Amino acid sequence: MSSRNQPTVAVVGVGSVGAMALWQLAKQGVSAVGYDSYAPGHDRGAAGGESRILRAAPRRGPQYVPLLRRARELWQELEDDSGHRLFHRTGCVTVGPAEHAGLRAVQDIAEAQDLPLEWLEAAEAARRVPEHPLRDGEAMVLDPEGGLLRPEVSVLAAASRAEALGAQIHRYTPVVDVEDDGDSATVVTEHGRQHYDRVILAPGPWLQGFPVIPSRDVTVSKVDVLWFARRTPGTFLPERTPVAMRVGDPAMSCCPGADGAKIVPREQDKAEIDYPETLPRDVPADQVARAREAVQQVMPGLFPSPIRTATYGEAYTADGHGMLGAPGMSEALVIAAAFSGHGFQLAPVLGEISADLALTGITDHNVAFLGPDRQQHG
Ligand SMILES: Cc1cc2nc3c(=O)[nH]c(=O)nc-3n(C[C@H](O)[C@H](O)[C@H](O)COP(=O)(O)OP(=O)(O)OC[C@H]3O[C@@H](n4cnc5c(N)ncnc54)[C@H](O)[C@@H]3O)c2cc1C
Repeated sequence: MSSRNQPTVAVVGVGSVGAMALWQLAKQGVSAVGYDSYAPGHDRGAAGGESRILRAAPRRGPQYVPLLRRARELWQELEDDSGHRLFHRTGCVTVGPAEHAGLRAVQDIAEAQDLPLEWLEAAEAARRVPEHPLRDGEAMVLDPEGGLLRPEVSVLAAASRAEALGAQIHRYTPVVDVEDDGDSATVVTEHGRQHYDRVILAPGPWLQGFPVIPSRDVTVSKVDVLWFARRTPGTFLPERTPVAMRVGDPAMSCCPGADGAKIVPREQDKAEIDYPETLPRDVPADQVARAREAVQQVMPGLFPSPIRTATYGEAYTADGHGMLGAPGMSEALVIAAAFSGHGFQLAPVLGEISADLALTGITDHNVAFLGPDRQQHG
């Protein structure tokens, strides 16, 4: 431990989760040092593409409800501290066949956890969310506390706050290895070896580069994203239009954006990649054709040919939950990785828990289900 009785802590990867961890450590006056291969706010990792969905009523299970509650408090705090608008509380609608399991799952969670949820009748849905017209037999539920997060500026805001509070960030400094030395750890870069009491490893879709991370149940995949322009001014507004999850056929997420909407098709060929630098940047023509048809079917307010496409990398575990905690019996390492397509909304609380685990070895949150060494069932 350092002479001040506070451990020295390194954060490897100042992306979605790492930037939040660094901010939390700096708030507590810890001597914290971040390393990133690029610079916080870049779009080569899992956080690129301008928008992310936050839901208060998560389909993935009730264990996420308290985590999301705390995450929302921290999003607010980061907005207040940084002065940047990071979250638009537009609500999140789930749209699809009335009996679809995806709609029922949201309703079940909301009821069990006493979360607000509104079923919108057809006329009400058409009035309040004209961007997502209901087809015959379809229904819409609104999670009023959900909304749209702005990923790149959020990472930048957390990193900037951390630096303002005394953290140091080594930009454009790839870490080539992290060694577990028992009661401390070593971070290796091309500039040399640096020892820390604790190291938080948050490398996102680059996690295969770190043998200390148990990655046998993890797949790193490409995710295709497409943008479509609005036909009518005043629709698909990021500040006002709810973010949407479409279930059934076609299934996709939809975030309003500067020119219209961004779509992430749910059914897509999530080709495996080794690490993001090997990511094919083109969205295949058949994927574009399927997305075009889907937009024509369910979002007539958009021009159906995409104006922009992009691909990003994300790390997925077999059971769809991320990894947060110490690997094996390690005292010095905390892993925060593989958040499987839903980690951004949780990033502030994942950062807070990572910082707690690094400083004290414990957390008040129930995150046993995220243990890096758990047996996973896909
Ligand atoms: C297209 C897409 C849509 C998504 N939609 C949603 C959504 O709507 N809602 C939601 O909650 N989640 C969503 N997710 C998931 C969410 O974005 C991710 O779970 C989250 O961003 C992962 O954060 P991370 O910190 O693990 O990774 P990242 O944000 O990628 O951060 C990893 C960082 O580590 C750095 N790094 C890696 N290796 C090294 C090294 N060797 N040395 C130094 N630095 C290194 C990288 O440069 C990077 O900055 C989506 C993901 C994708 C790809």
